[in-house]
Amino acid sequence: MLTVNAYAAPSATEPLIRTTIQRRDLGPKDVLIEIAYAGICHSDIHTVRGDWGPQQYPLTVGHEIVGFVTEVGSEVAGHEVGDRVGVGCMVNSCRECVNCLAGQEQYCLKGNTGTYGSVDRDGTITQGGYSTHVVVDEDFVLRVPENIPFEAAAPLLCAGITTYSPLAHWNAGPGKKVAVVGLGGLGHMAVKIAHAMGAEVTVLSQTLSKKDDGLRLGADHYFATSDPATFEQLANNFDLIINTVSAVIDLDAYLSLLALDGTLVNVGAPPEALPIHVFTLFGNRRSFAGSGIGSIGETQEMLDFCAEHGIAPETELIGADDINAAYERVLASDVRYRFVIDITTLR
Ligand SMILES: [Zn+2]
Ligand SMILES: [Zn+2]
Repeated sequence: MLTVNAYAAPSATEPLIRTTIQRRDLGPKDVLIEIAYAGICHSDIHTVRGDWGPQQYPLTVGHEIVGFVTEVGSEVAGHEVGDRVGVGCMVNSCRECVNCLAGQEQYCLKGNTGTYGSVDRDGTITQGGYSTHVVVDEDFVLRVPENIPFEAAAPLLCAGITTYSPLAHWNAGPGKKVAVVGLGGLGHMAVKIAHAMGAEVTVLSQTLSKKDDGLRLGADHYFATSDPATFEQLANNFDLIINTVSAVIDLDAYLSLLALDGTLVNVGAPPEALPIHVFTLFGNRRSFAGSGIGSIGETQEMLDFCAEHGIAPETELIGADDINAAYERVLASDVRYRFVIDITTLR
């Protein structure tokens, strides 16, 4: 076992604190990663505070991880010491179910093993990236291309793939009108990626306060959803809407913006059930869908796509002792657009 420095939540109600955690000894297929940067995802906060169900504490979160390989197991074939690598939201899956065999292990029928707060194959609870090192099976380790700035690469492992996957699946590209609801950590990446794919991109945000940013990030249009005229003006307009908002929205109002055969995909995760009128779906043969992260293969494709198109998240770098303050700012939507922890401050 390896004892490493980490930042962990002692309980659902206390601030995170400096501590140490254990990492397993390297198995033949394992990679030891010295973590350089870890992004702060809204899911981290929901999880440590128990919003999505009870957790075992102390718990170290963080599933937007980049670092350098410092040791490899005897059978590791795809990674070498010194490689720039990343780890996202999952670190294992059953590898036997139809979804795993189809290369869609994020939808493993036995449940993929989350990077934190999941029961690992040795029975321990997985611990995330707010720590100096992590041990991960090589099949769940991504290559981070050299031309993506390293600290900016971290949020790609969750915010990037969560938006890239539905954009790719529903064929965002030239001739397609794509709307992004919400311009936060996920939304700003959806705008950049959809624009790079060649789609005509519209941001739908509560107010126009981030309009300059939205247009700079690659949006062609920007509308305020607090203005009822927006919904009249944009009716029957979009081929694809990516909803990144985790709060309850008026789904019928947003669905009415879809053109023939259009799809509204939810990647935000409100804890409450959302009401919907089926008649709204009849019009224009609309679809309402969900999408969860992406496969390992697709995550690598996304990293290579971002490198090729020179796109990366907009980040604010913090030290480990700033994590609790950063959480409050994330909850207040006061970050443009992703906090990234400099993990050297934990060493
Ligand atoms: Zn996340
Ligand atoms: Zn499976």
